Amino acid sequence: MTEKTSIFDSVEAYRRAVLFILLLFTATFGAVFSILNFRNDNYIAMAGELAMGCFALCLAPVIRTTHRLLLWSFVYLLLFNSTMMAIIATPEASPSVFAWVLMIPILSHMLLGRALGGGVTLVFLAIAFWLYITKYGSDAALGSDRALLNVAGVALCIFGFSYVYETSRARAEIALKRRAYTDPLTGLGNRAAFYHRFGEAIARFERQGAGPAIVLLDIDHFKAINDDHGHETGDDALKQLSAILIETIRPSDDAFRYGGEEFCLLLNDTSPAEAANFAETLRKVVEAAEMSREDHMIHLTVSLGVATVCEDGTDLKKLLQAADQRLYEAKAKGRNRVVSG
Ligand code: GH3
Ligand code: MG
Ligand code: MG
Repeated sequence: MTEKTSIFDSVEAYRRAVLFILLLFTATFGAVFSILNFRNDNYIAMAGELAMGCFALCLAPVIRTTHRLLLWSFVYLLLFNSTMMAIIATPEASPSVFAWVLMIPILSHMLLGRALGGGVTLVFLAIAFWLYITKYGSDAALGSDRALLNVAGVALCIFGFSYVYETSRARAEIALKRRAYTDPLTGLGNRAAFYHRFGEAIARFERQGAGPAIVLLDIDHFKAINDDHGHETGDDALKQLSAILIETIRPSDDAFRYGGEEFCLLLNDTSPAEAANFAETLRKVVEAAEMSREDHMIHLTVSLGVATVCEDGTDLKKLLQAADQRLYEAKAKGRNRVVSG
């Protein structure tokens, strides 16, 4: 179901790519720097770089498929940053090694998000700053107030910009998802949202054995409402029907605008008999409802087709086919009725 995964998984794909590239860089730089440190007799740094490089190479294929990306990213960053701190702490390390510290806020926010990334950044920037003062605090040039202010200032600026960037990226992503999965007229979830929620319901079903039901609902003779009262009145009726659906379903259920004047309900943990009863109740509620627009009242009826995971299986395509077939039957039998399995 590509529609359902593309936007919901976008951050995951982006973080997977960032971590994968970081692993390749670690392996490459690990190899180069371990040779340099071997030549400089800095064996601690050499061992750390070799170990990180090998670990990165082993992790790269895992990252492509893992479902625990956040956990791996967290573990990897902890090791990466700790190795960096250990190398900085060696007496042979050059002051320029501190340049790598500036990677910490950027990578942490990209891979771990605002809260966890911010926390990891704070801890490691504090350790790095303490190491800097311990090593160079008494050095005339590197330990001067101006030098300390430069180092701390640049680190804090990068921290701040990374934090702001990640915050606005996360907000933009939420807004984009909301738009992509919401029907603008009724405010209900759209078809893509239904696919996504159905996937979640099936995952729950496989864990807990609580099967969902789906109900396809189509307004009867809706074209006549548009023709008789105008398109705006038709729009209004769609909105008022959506409100009735939301009021009638349980909080654990979901209602979606499937397309045009067709709606879809996802009833969680619902047996075939319960689903048929609920659909019949809903049919009566809609039939009894008086929808008002300016000076006139509109009465709607709906036809409903019910399919359940218990009776029709977990394959969404087959479930929808079954519900659609029953909806078609309800229409053929005279409309304003429910057909279930
Ligand atoms: P049936 O009982 O067989 O379902 O008949 P129907 O008239 O409801 O079905 P038909 O498929 O012939 O027409 C559906 C109508 O729904 C036609 C279309 O203009 C209208 N419609 C679809 N989307 C919207 C919308 O967003 N707003 C309005 N006002 N009308 C819409
Ligand atoms: Mg219709
Ligand atoms: Mg229709």
